[in-house]
Amino acid sequence: MTIEILPARLANQIAAGEVVERPSSVVKELVENSLDAGATTIKIDIEKGGAKRIRISDNGSGIVKDELTLALSRHATSKIKDLNDLEGICSLGFRGEALASISSVARLTLTSKPAEQESAWQAIAEGRDMAVALQPAAHPNGTTIDVVDLFFNTPARRKFLRTEKTEFTHIEEVIKRIALARFDVSFILSHNQKVIKHFKSVNNKSLYAKRVAQICGQKFIEHSLEIDCQHGDLQLSGWVGLPSFARNQNDLSFSYVNGRMMRDKLINHAIRQAYSNLLPADTYPAFVLFLVLDVREVDVNVHPAKHEVRFHQGRYIHDFIYSVCHNALSENANLGLLPELE
Ligand code: ADP
Ligand code: MG
Repeated sequence: MTIEILPARLANQIAAGEVVERPSSVVKELVENSLDAGATTIKIDIEKGGAKRIRISDNGSGIVKDELTLALSRHATSKIKDLNDLEGICSLGFRGEALASISSVARLTLTSKPAEQESAWQAIAEGRDMAVALQPAAHPNGTTIDVVDLFFNTPARRKFLRTEKTEFTHIEEVIKRIALARFDVSFILSHNQKVIKHFKSVNNKSLYAKRVAQICGQKFIEHSLEIDCQHGDLQLSGWVGLPSFARNQNDLSFSYVNGRMMRDKLINHAIRQAYSNLLPADTYPAFVLFLVLDVREVDVNVHPAKHEVRFHQGRYIHDFIYSVCHNALSENANLGLLPELE
């Protein structure tokens, strides 16, 4: 065998294996791009569980005509420039992989108009080996990314798609998770032309609980404690469900680090420990928690989908989360305030 450099599309398809697991991963990447672009309204239109179409429209900063092609190429990002930036990531994206990956496994159209550009332009990535065609288009300020026929050219991948309903449930879950992190942004999620979820932006802290209730249920808010604790550079805020609200499934656990949704072992361990002895066996706590810390104290570049992070001072963070949650729960228990669920 001779050694050869892979053609661009194939290289991108291999990378897509890491980032684009199913329609919901496309939704996550695209909505995160909209948030990074400063959007305040994001529309997510899904057809057939995302297998037919995923279209995300935002009112963010847009992409100038000259950079449309670049945005679709691999390792092209506006979010970091050097190692120093990589060590202090403030944006959700930074790998410059998503659009290139997605466009290698679907028919992708990118339409954008930055406010300072007179009219919109559209990039169509359907040509051979990642060629991109540009044409003028009509679009308000912001960006729309239309992803049609996901995995049409990777049959092995397409075979792994589940039913329309299952795939849409995954998408709904992603939108809920993101909507919990950004109260200041409106999200409108539609499936097959029908609006399924509409989270209106709220800018007043006293209304945050309303969105949490919309996503996690009114009962969760009624049976949880609101916490907000600052210690040096660390801040933990959110809601911890009372032990009486224990779940039979791990379906109401949401944690965020600097606004990024997480499935982090260290965080989950700290929270479980805070509940130990308080929860019946084989039940799970319900919580929505936001950890905010210096971006230089956490490495987000450890997982392609960025679900996990590495804390420089893991033990310290763990103990902080544990004690804040534990104190809140035990103070409440001591006061005898545990309301019963009907
Ligand atoms: P990353 O998010 O890691 O930078 P992506 O492949 O997701 O990589 O996006 C590439 C680039 O395209 C981004 O860095 C950004 O400059 C631009 N971009 C993507 N989506 C949007 C959007 N919705 N609005 C404005 N710019 C966008
Ligand atoms: Mg991105």
